[in-house]
Amino acid sequence: MKTAIVTGITGQDGAYLSRLLLKKGYKVIGCIRSHSGSNLSRLKYLDLLDKIELIECDLVDMSQVLNIISTNKPAEIYNLAAQSSVSLSFQQPIGTLEFNIHSVLNFLEAIRILDPAIRFYQASSSEMFGKVNALPISEVSVVHPLSPYAISKVTGHYICINYRESYGLYTSCGILFNHESYLRGENFFVRKLIKGAFDILHGQKEYLEFGNLSIKRDFGWSEKYVEAMWMMLQLDQPDDFVICSGSSIALNDIVYYVFDKLGISRELIRINPKLFRPTEIEDIYGSNEKAKTVLNWDYNMDFFKVLDLIIEEEARNYGKQ
Ligand code: NDP
Repeated sequence: MKTAIVTGITGQDGAYLSRLLLKKGYKVIGCIRSHSGSNLSRLKYLDLLDKIELIECDLVDMSQVLNIISTNKPAEIYNLAAQSSVSLSFQQPIGTLEFNIHSVLNFLEAIRILDPAIRFYQASSSEMFGKVNALPISEVSVVHPLSPYAISKVTGHYICINYRESYGLYTSCGILFNHESYLRGENFFVRKLIKGAFDILHGQKEYLEFGNLSIKRDFGWSEKYVEAMWMMLQLDQPDDFVICSGSSIALNDIVYYVFDKLGISRELIRINPKLFRPTEIEDIYGSNEKAKTVLNWDYNMDFFKVLDLIIEEEARNYGKQ
């Protein structure tokens, strides 16, 4: 039985990826900040808590990272832990950069020292390509980050490439575009919108406030995106892949779709300029050609279908948690 270590296991992708790895027969070990402080609700929701092992580990402490690897001898490590909010990274740039960069470096140094055969997946992000020169974004597009979060992800990405080129380590980066589900954090746009719309329906909110809704993004379905993470680590050679739907949608259209579907008046949409970001990407979408041809990853989900799935799950669960 192969062992996989998953960092960020309490997050959206960590929960779905763990479920996938368990189905494939892996022993799954999750790194968490602390038993008392971590939010285990997603793992509980997917009924995974008694099927995985959770270990407290401070990922910016090299000795703890060395210890977790030498004790558990993983075949694969999926590094999903990150301060993952672009907005929060403007408020907490130092913490974001420190954690998101240092944790990657600790893992790769530990792998280099202890067992260079361990395969490492890094959660890179489309946010690395902030100032866009040409669309669609591919694996060879020029990076130009526009936020502390994006800078941290560019650095993590190039640390992985550097350890691959310098020491021959098996490091693969998934450059993922936005992907959503019912398990997405409520501070992110799609989940905030759908949860908020249900709050309006249930009389808990009078209206919803948003920042800039004219921007366009490439959105997908989280459960399909975590499949690509696993597929990357099964290739003979490590490589980097853009994982995306291949087209972008304006946030406005997403808000209108959800409000119309739930029969909520569009007059309850408020724009608050204070929620605009200091720098913003206007339109971005990627090409998933390499993932489709090299990885054999298939993706053809319409994002309005994804919204339907999240709305159905919200309707089933609203008020239960
Ligand atoms: P989430 O925000 O849902 O999860 C983030 C995870 O990182 C949580 O388990 C969280 O733990 C952990 N984490 C955050 N800060 C720390 C810290 N200081 N110490 C230890 N653990 C920490 O993210 P997603 O699951 O959506 O995304 C997974 C990865 O993919 C992230 O690296 C993200 O940046 C990246 N990504 C995501 C995209 C998306 O659309 N979802 C797009 C592109 C990249 P805790 O529960 O304790 O807070």
